Amino acid sequence: DLLINQIAAGEVVERPASALKELLENSVDAAANEIAVTLMQGGIKQLRVADDGIGIVAEELALALARHATSKIATLDDLESVNSLGFRGEALASIAAVSRLSLISRRRGERHAWKVEAAGSDVTGLQPAALESGTAVEVQDLYFNTPARRKFLKSEATEYGHCEEMFRRLALSRTDISFTLQHNGRKIWQLPAGPMERRAATLLGDEFAAASVILDERAGSLRLWGMASLPGFSRGGRDAQYFYVNGRFVRDKLIAHAIREAYKDILHNDRHPAFALFLEIDPEGVDVNVHPTKIEVRFRDARAIHQFIYHALNKALSAPIR
Ligand code: ADP
Ligand code: MG
Repeated sequence: DLLINQIAAGEVVERPASALKELLENSVDAAANEIAVTLMQGGIKQLRVADDGIGIVAEELALALARHATSKIATLDDLESVNSLGFRGEALASIAAVSRLSLISRRRGERHAWKVEAAGSDVTGLQPAALESGTAVEVQDLYFNTPARRKFLKSEATEYGHCEEMFRRLALSRTDISFTLQHNGRKIWQLPAGPMERRAATLLGDEFAAASVILDERAGSLRLWGMASLPGFSRGGRDAQYFYVNGRFVRDKLIAHAIREAYKDILHNDRHPAFALFLEIDPEGVDVNVHPTKIEVRFRDARAIHQFIYHALNKALSAPIR
Protein backbone atom coordinates (compact mmCIF):
# COMPACT_ATOMS: atom_id res chain seq x y z
CA ASP A 1 0.00 0.00 0.00
CA LEU A 2 2.83 2.37 0.79
CA LEU A 3 4.27 1.72 -2.65
CA ILE A 4 0.92 2.34 -4.32
CA ASN A 5 0.60 5.53 -2.32
CA GLN A 6 4.10 6.61 -3.23
CA ILE A 7 3.45 6.00 -6.92
CA ALA A 8 0.17 7.88 -6.71
CA ALA A 9 1.97 10.59 -4.79
CA GLY A 10 4.15 11.11 -7.82
CA GLU A 11 1.01 11.94 -9.76
CA VAL A 12 -0.54 14.21 -7.18
CA VAL A 13 2.46 15.64 -5.36
CA GLU A 14 4.96 16.71 -7.98
CA ARG A 15 6.39 19.36 -5.69
CA PRO A 16 5.50 21.37 -2.57
CA ALA A 17 3.20 23.62 -4.60
CA SER A 18 1.05 20.65 -5.67
CA ALA A 19 0.66 19.58 -2.03
CA LEU A 20 -0.25 23.16 -1.19
CA LYS A 21 -2.89 23.20 -3.91
CA GLU A 22 -4.56 20.09 -2.50
CA LEU A 23 -4.51 21.40 1.07
CA LEU A 24 -5.90 24.77 0.02
CA GLU A 25 -8.68 23.09 -1.95
CA ASN A 26 -9.58 20.97 1.06
CA SER A 27 -9.87 24.09 3.20
CA VAL A 28 -12.08 25.73 0.60
CA ASP A 29 -14.25 22.61 0.42
CA ALA A 30 -14.56 22.75 4.21
CA ALA A 31 -16.20 26.18 3.89
CA ALA A 32 -13.33 28.03 5.56
CA ASN A 33 -13.58 31.78 6.06
CA GLU A 34 -9.91 32.11 6.93
CA ILE A 35 -6.95 30.17 5.60
CA ALA A 36 -3.41 30.59 6.92
CA VAL A 37 -0.46 29.18 4.99
CA THR A 38 2.95 28.84 6.61
CA LEU A 39 5.96 27.69 4.64
CA MET A 40 9.53 26.93 5.61
CA GLN A 41 12.28 26.60 3.03
CA GLY A 42 10.07 26.82 0.00
CA GLY A 43 7.57 24.37 1.47
CA ILE A 44 10.11 21.53 1.40
CA LYS A 45 10.92 21.69 5.11
CA GLN A 46 7.41 22.62 6.17
CA LEU A 47 4.08 23.42 4.64
CA ARG A 48 1.17 24.15 6.94
CA VAL A 49 -2.38 25.05 6.01
CA ALA A 50 -4.76 25.97 8.81
CA ASP A 51 -8.41 26.82 8.33
CA ASP A 52 -11.51 27.63 10.35
CA GLY A 53 -13.70 25.28 8.34
CA ILE A 54 -16.12 22.57 9.44
CA GLY A 55 -13.40 20.27 10.71
CA ILE A 56 -13.23 16.48 10.75
CA VAL A 57 -14.82 14.31 13.44
CA ALA A 58 -12.32 12.37 15.54
CA GLU A 59 -13.47 8.98 14.25
CA GLU A 60 -12.76 10.05 10.67
CA LEU A 61 -9.34 11.60 11.12
CA ALA A 62 -7.41 8.42 10.29
CA LEU A 63 -9.82 7.67 7.48
CA ALA A 64 -9.07 11.03 5.92
CA LEU A 65 -5.50 9.81 5.40
CA ALA A 66 -6.63 6.55 3.77
CA ARG A 67 -6.70 6.29 0.02
CA HIS A 68 -10.10 6.66 -1.66
CA ALA A 69 -11.85 5.98 1.64
CA THR A 70 -13.33 9.42 1.51
CA SER A 71 -14.06 9.93 -2.13
CA LYS A 72 -17.11 12.08 -2.48
CA ILE A 73 -17.97 10.54 -5.81
CA ALA A 74 -20.67 7.93 -5.65
CA THR A 75 -20.96 7.12 -9.32
CA LEU A 76 -19.01 7.96 -12.43
CA ASP A 77 -21.84 10.20 -13.53
CA ASP A 78 -20.98 12.55 -10.71
CA LEU A 79 -17.71 13.32 -12.44
CA GLU A 80 -19.68 15.23 -15.04
CA SER A 81 -20.76 17.92 -12.67
CA VAL A 82 -18.23 17.95 -9.89
CA ASN A 83 -18.64 21.12 -7.92
CA SER A 84 -16.38 20.70 -4.94
CA LEU A 85 -12.69 21.06 -5.68
CA GLY A 86 -11.57 17.76 -4.20
CA PHE A 87 -13.19 14.60 -5.41
CA ARG A 88 -10.60 11.87 -5.69
CA GLY A 89 -10.02 11.12 -2.03
CA GLU A 90 -6.33 10.52 -2.48
CA ALA A 91 -4.54 13.78 -1.86
CA LEU A 92 -3.92 13.43 1.88
CA ALA A 93 -2.99 9.74 1.50
CA SER A 94 -0.55 10.59 -1.25
CA ILE A 95 1.06 13.47 0.62
CA ALA A 96 1.28 11.40 3.81
CA ALA A 97 3.09 8.63 1.91
CA VAL A 98 6.00 10.93 1.09
CA SER A 99 6.23 13.19 4.14
CA ARG A 100 5.73 13.47 7.87
CA LEU A 101 2.18 14.68 8.05
CA SER A 102 0.13 15.74 10.99
CA LEU A 103 -3.59 16.33 10.79
CA ILE A 104 -5.27 18.22 13.59
CA SER A 105 -8.95 19.02 13.61
CA ARG A 106 -11.68 20.27 15.86
CA ARG A 107 -15.34 20.27 15.00
CA ARG A 108 -17.48 23.01 16.40
CA GLY A 109 -18.70 22.09 19.87
CA GLU A 110 -15.85 19.66 20.61
CA ARG A 111 -14.02 20.23 23.89
CA HIS A 112 -10.63 20.04 22.21
CA ALA A 113 -8.98 19.04 18.94
CA TRP A 114 -7.68 15.61 17.89
CA LYS A 115 -4.57 14.74 15.98
CA VAL A 116 -3.23 11.89 13.87
CA GLU A 117 0.28 11.73 12.51
CA ALA A 118 1.63 9.80 9.56
CA ALA A 119 5.12 9.19 8.27
CA GLY A 120 5.33 6.99 5.21
CA SER A 121 3.08 4.04 6.02
CA ASP A 122 3.00 4.52 9.78
CA VAL A 123 -0.08 6.22 11.17
CA THR A 124 -0.34 6.99 14.88
CA GLY A 125 -3.49 6.61 16.90
CA LEU A 126 -5.70 9.52 17.90
CA GLN A 127 -4.18 11.97 20.32
CA PRO A 128 -5.77 14.99 21.96
CA ALA A 129 -4.37 18.25 20.60
CA ALA A 130 -4.76 21.99 20.82
CA LEU A 131 -6.47 23.93 18.05
CA GLU A 132 -9.12 26.60 18.35
CA SER A 133 -11.35 25.32 15.56
CA GLY A 134 -11.18 23.93 12.05
CA THR A 135 -8.32 21.95 10.62
CA ALA A 136 -4.55 22.27 10.43
CA VAL A 137 -2.50 20.07 8.15
CA GLU A 138 1.24 20.18 8.59
CA VAL A 139 3.50 18.55 6.03
CA GLN A 140 7.16 18.23 6.95
CA ASP A 141 10.21 17.00 5.09
CA LEU A 142 8.57 16.31 1.76
CA TYR A 143 10.12 13.24 0.06
CA PHE A 144 12.19 12.38 3.14
CA ASN A 145 11.62 8.69 2.29
CA THR A 146 11.85 8.97 -1.49
CA PRO A 147 15.30 10.41 -2.25
CA ALA A 148 14.89 9.86 -5.99
CA ARG A 149 11.97 12.28 -6.00
CA ARG A 150 13.69 14.69 -3.68
CA LYS A 151 16.44 15.07 -6.26
CA PHE A 152 13.96 16.54 -8.69
CA LEU A 153 13.13 19.42 -6.39
CA LYS A 154 14.57 22.74 -7.50
CA SER A 155 16.07 25.40 -5.26
CA GLU A 156 14.19 26.65 -2.23
CA ALA A 157 13.53 29.94 -4.05
CA THR A 158 12.08 28.18 -7.07
CA GLU A 159 9.85 25.90 -5.01
CA TYR A 160 8.72 28.90 -2.98
CA GLY A 161 7.86 30.72 -6.22
CA HIS A 162 5.64 27.83 -7.30
CA CYS A 163 3.95 27.79 -3.89
CA GLU A 164 3.30 31.52 -3.99
CA GLU A 165 1.88 31.23 -7.49
CA MET A 166 -0.45 28.45 -6.37
CA PHE A 167 -1.51 30.58 -3.39
CA ARG A 168 -2.13 33.57 -5.69
CA ARG A 169 -4.27 31.49 -8.04
CA LEU A 170 -6.54 30.34 -5.29
CA ALA A 171 -6.63 33.64 -3.41
CA LEU A 172 -7.69 35.46 -6.59
CA SER A 173 -10.60 33.11 -7.12
CA ARG A 174 -11.96 33.17 -3.58
CA THR A 175 -12.00 36.75 -2.43
CA ASP A 176 -14.74 35.90 0.07
CA ILE A 177 -12.11 34.03 2.08
CA SER A 178 -9.31 35.80 3.93
CA PHE A 179 -5.82 34.41 3.41
CA THR A 180 -2.39 34.85 4.90
CA LEU A 181 0.93 33.56 3.63
CA GLN A 182 4.13 33.32 5.64
CA HIS A 183 7.50 32.13 4.42
CA ASN A 184 10.49 31.47 6.67
CA GLY A 185 8.83 33.48 9.42
CA ARG A 186 8.14 36.50 7.20
CA LYS A 187 4.64 37.73 6.45
CA ILE A 188 4.27 37.82 2.67
CA TRP A 189 0.52 38.32 2.11
CA GLN A 190 -2.33 39.32 4.33
CA LEU A 191 -5.53 39.37 2.33
CA PRO A 192 -8.79 40.30 4.02
CA ALA A 193 -12.03 39.13 2.42
CA GLY A 194 -13.43 41.71 0.04
CA PRO A 195 -14.23 42.52 -3.57
CA MET A 196 -12.28 40.89 -6.38
CA GLU A 197 -11.02 44.26 -7.62
CA ARG A 198 -9.23 44.95 -4.36
CA ARG A 199 -7.64 41.54 -4.16
CA ALA A 200 -6.51 41.73 -7.79
CA ALA A 201 -4.94 45.12 -7.09
CA THR A 202 -3.09 43.66 -4.11
CA LEU A 203 -1.94 40.47 -5.78
CA LEU A 204 -1.36 41.75 -9.32
CA GLY A 205 -0.36 45.31 -8.54
CA ASP A 206 -1.94 48.76 -8.44
CA GLU A 207 -0.58 49.50 -11.93
CA PHE A 208 -2.63 46.61 -13.22
CA ALA A 209 -5.76 47.77 -11.43
CA ALA A 210 -5.32 51.29 -12.76
CA ALA A 211 -4.81 50.15 -16.34
CA SER A 212 -7.57 47.59 -16.61
CA VAL A 213 -11.25 47.34 -17.43
CA ILE A 214 -13.83 45.66 -15.29
CA LEU A 215 -16.11 43.50 -17.36
CA ASP A 216 -19.22 41.45 -16.86
CA GLU A 217 -20.74 40.03 -20.01
CA ARG A 218 -23.45 37.45 -20.39
CA ALA A 219 -24.84 35.42 -23.27
CA GLY A 220 -27.44 32.79 -22.47
CA SER A 221 -26.08 30.71 -19.61
CA LEU A 222 -22.53 31.97 -20.17
CA ARG A 223 -20.96 34.72 -18.12
CA LEU A 224 -17.49 36.26 -18.32
CA TRP A 225 -16.47 38.68 -15.60
CA GLY A 226 -13.36 40.06 -13.98
CA MET A 227 -10.57 42.43 -14.94
CA ALA A 228 -8.41 42.70 -18.02
CA SER A 229 -5.56 45.12 -18.73
CA LEU A 230 -6.10 47.73 -21.40
CA PRO A 231 -4.27 47.17 -24.67
CA GLY A 232 -0.65 48.18 -24.45
CA PHE A 233 -0.35 47.58 -20.72
CA SER A 234 2.95 46.07 -19.83
CA ARG A 235 3.47 44.69 -16.40
CA GLY A 236 7.10 43.86 -16.75
CA GLY A 237 8.41 40.66 -15.27
CA ARG A 238 6.15 37.66 -15.11
CA ASP A 239 2.86 37.43 -16.99
CA ALA A 240 -0.21 37.86 -14.85
CA GLN A 241 -2.78 35.78 -16.67
CA TYR A 242 -5.44 34.16 -14.57
CA PHE A 243 -8.43 32.46 -16.11
CA TYR A 244 -11.00 30.45 -14.20
CA VAL A 245 -13.76 28.17 -15.37
CA ASN A 246 -16.44 27.73 -12.74
CA GLY A 247 -13.99 28.87 -10.11
CA ARG A 248 -11.13 26.61 -11.17
CA PHE A 249 -7.90 27.99 -12.52
CA VAL A 250 -7.27 26.65 -16.01
CA ARG A 251 -4.73 27.09 -18.73
CA ASP A 252 -6.25 26.20 -22.04
CA LYS A 253 -5.25 26.69 -25.68
CA LEU A 254 -8.72 27.54 -26.90
CA ILE A 255 -9.22 30.16 -24.21
CA ALA A 256 -5.73 31.59 -24.71
CA HIS A 257 -6.41 31.88 -28.41
CA ALA A 258 -9.73 33.68 -27.92
CA ILE A 259 -8.08 36.17 -25.57
CA ARG A 260 -5.12 36.74 -27.87
CA GLU A 261 -7.43 37.41 -30.79
CA ALA A 262 -9.52 39.86 -28.77
CA TYR A 263 -6.41 41.89 -27.93
CA LYS A 264 -4.90 41.54 -31.37
CA ASP A 265 -7.95 43.11 -32.96
CA ILE A 266 -7.45 46.25 -30.95
CA LEU A 267 -3.71 46.52 -30.74
CA HIS A 268 -1.78 44.44 -33.16
CA ASN A 269 0.69 42.27 -31.31
CA ASP A 270 -0.30 42.95 -27.71
CA ARG A 271 1.59 40.03 -26.30
CA HIS A 272 1.46 40.48 -22.57
CA PRO A 273 -2.00 41.35 -21.42
CA ALA A 274 -2.72 40.80 -17.73
CA PHE A 275 -6.08 39.56 -16.56
CA ALA A 276 -8.12 37.84 -13.91
CA LEU A 277 -11.15 36.49 -15.74
CA PHE A 278 -13.89 34.17 -14.60
CA LEU A 279 -15.98 32.14 -17.00
CA GLU A 280 -19.20 30.73 -15.60
CA ILE A 281 -20.74 27.93 -17.59
CA ASP A 282 -23.30 25.19 -17.03
CA PRO A 283 -21.23 22.32 -15.50
CA GLU A 284 -22.75 19.96 -18.06
CA GLY A 285 -21.00 21.85 -20.80
CA VAL A 286 -17.48 21.34 -19.52
CA ASP A 287 -15.08 18.74 -18.12
CA VAL A 288 -12.53 20.27 -15.80
CA ASN A 289 -9.37 18.71 -14.40
CA VAL A 290 -9.27 15.51 -16.36
CA HIS A 291 -6.08 14.54 -14.53
CA PRO A 292 -5.02 15.39 -10.94
CA THR A 293 -2.13 17.66 -11.85
CA LYS A 294 -3.49 19.03 -15.10
CA ILE A 295 -5.44 22.21 -15.35
CA GLU A 296 -7.13 21.60 -18.65
CA VAL A 297 -10.74 21.85 -19.67
CA ARG A 298 -12.78 20.22 -22.37
CA PHE A 299 -15.78 22.12 -23.62
CA ARG A 300 -18.73 20.44 -25.20
CA ASP A 301 -19.25 23.38 -27.56
CA ALA A 302 -15.76 24.77 -28.00
CA ARG A 303 -16.68 27.08 -30.88
CA ALA A 304 -19.39 28.83 -28.91
CA ILE A 305 -17.08 29.31 -25.93
CA HIS A 306 -14.34 30.73 -28.12
CA GLN A 307 -16.73 33.18 -29.76
CA PHE A 308 -18.24 34.25 -26.48
CA ILE A 309 -14.89 34.95 -24.81
CA TYR A 310 -13.60 36.73 -27.88
CA HIS A 311 -16.65 38.97 -28.23
CA ALA A 312 -17.07 39.69 -24.53
CA LEU A 313 -13.44 40.70 -24.10
CA ASN A 314 -13.27 42.57 -27.37
CA LYS A 315 -16.33 44.60 -26.43
CA ALA A 316 -15.00 45.45 -22.98
CA LEU A 317 -11.60 46.45 -24.31
CA SER A 318 -12.95 48.67 -27.07
CA ALA A 319 -15.35 50.53 -24.80
CA PRO A 320 -13.81 50.82 -21.36
CA ILE A 321 -16.51 51.55 -18.83
CA ARG A 322 -14.27 53.31 -16.34
P1 ADP B 1 -10.76 14.58 -1.21
O1 ADP B 1 -10.60 16.04 -0.96
O2 ADP B 1 -10.56 14.24 -2.66
O3 ADP B 1 -11.99 13.98 -0.63
P2 ADP B 1 -8.41 14.39 0.39
O4 ADP B 1 -7.41 13.30 0.54
O5 ADP B 1 -7.94 15.70 -0.12
O6 ADP B 1 -9.54 13.81 -0.53
O7 ADP B 1 -9.14 14.62 1.77
C1 ADP B 1 -9.75 13.51 2.38
C2 ADP B 1 -10.92 13.92 3.24
O8 ADP B 1 -10.47 14.54 4.42
C3 ADP B 1 -11.86 14.93 2.60
O9 ADP B 1 -12.83 14.30 1.81
C4 ADP B 1 -12.46 15.61 3.81
O10 ADP B 1 -13.56 14.84 4.28
C5 ADP B 1 -11.36 15.55 4.84
N1 ADP B 1 -10.61 16.81 4.88
C6 ADP B 1 -9.38 17.05 4.37
N2 ADP B 1 -8.96 18.30 4.62
C7 ADP B 1 -9.96 18.89 5.32
C8 ADP B 1 -10.15 20.20 5.90
N3 ADP B 1 -9.21 21.15 5.77
N4 ADP B 1 -11.30 20.43 6.58
C9 ADP B 1 -12.24 19.47 6.71
N5 ADP B 1 -12.12 18.22 6.18
C10 ADP B 1 -11.00 17.93 5.51
MG1 MG C 1 -8.90 17.06 -1.48
